[in-house]
Amino acid sequence: MSAFSCSAARAVVAPKAVAKRGDARSAKAARAPSSVALAAPAFATASLASTPAAHAASEAISQTADGVGLAVGGVAAVAAVGGLLVATDPEKRRDDMKASSGGDEAASVKDYFNSTGFDRWKKIYGETDDVNKVQMDIREGHQQTVDKVLAWTAGMNMEGVTVCDAGCGTGSLAIPLALRGATIAASDISSAMVGEAEVRFNEQVKAGAKAPSVAPKFEAIGLEECSGEYDVVTCIDVMIHYPTDRVNGMISHLAGLSTDKLIISFAPKTLAYSILKRVGELFPGPSKATRAYLHAEEDVEAALNAAGFKVTRREMTATQFYFSRLLECERA
Ligand code: SAH
Repeated sequence: MSAFSCSAARAVVAPKAVAKRGDARSAKAARAPSSVALAAPAFATASLASTPAAHAASEAISQTADGVGLAVGGVAAVAAVGGLLVATDPEKRRDDMKASSGGDEAASVKDYFNSTGFDRWKKIYGETDDVNKVQMDIREGHQQTVDKVLAWTAGMNMEGVTVCDAGCGTGSLAIPLALRGATIAASDISSAMVGEAEVRFNEQVKAGAKAPSVAPKFEAIGLEECSGEYDVVTCIDVMIHYPTDRVNGMISHLAGLSTDKLIISFAPKTLAYSILKRVGELFPGPSKATRAYLHAEEDVEAALNAAGFKVTRREMTATQFYFSRLLECERA
């Protein structure tokens, strides 16, 4: 852990308090403008952290660059550093990592989220105090994304609505939806992550939260192995693990599972974020065990349209170390 670590452990907030806080956050999110344009200075500080791999890279930047001032150095500084990046070889590091998983990228993502990635992300997606400042910023950014989805669905009676949450992680979205009565199929390529989601759901119910009439299903399967038909399909902060040439297939598979709504998020590919991502790759660290892919919004939208969906709402969440574009789509 970095110098930022706060080691004082705090008990997990009781479910009711969590729900209350979630409501307050949702209300706040609902008041937010539907799309937030990033001002230039925001690029300098809005570093690379839409999802785990990018988060990890930004953590490395921040921890290393705390003394260097890189993460807050402004666009010009970032651009200047960008010029140095040709000398680096992140590909080699990634290939080494892939080789250790038999050359299969999905397998290396799975290994990561079953080992060091699990330890890291269950804390970030948790409530305890044992996170550093960067991890706290990422936690808050990610929670904003989750809250935006909850705000979008706040007007829906979720009782009995079927939801497939693909790449559910520790259940940050699946659990509140289940506690609102939805029939949830939560799955993740990592058995550790989805196992933690199940534990957290059971803890909340044990502590008094109302269980849905149909118990949620937690399954350790990859996104492409998900099957069935659901009213709503959600896939939050997972696409960063998908290379560009697999995104169309991923989106068309998710679309095929949904009869009505599809809600997805991804790290948008812009010049500034691309440079920042490369900057992050300059700083190797134990947490950076996965390759991170940014995606152009027009490519994602074209894939959604080709799969029969139109974008109905958009949001952008950008904190200092987290950024994520969120799209709500409906069958065209
Ligand atoms: N959606 C959750 C978790 C985001 S972290 C949330 O927003 O809280 C990204 C998750 O995607 C990790 O748990 C990782 O194991 C999972 N993941 C990555 N690639 C996947 C794939 N191909 N299929 C299913 N899950 C995947």
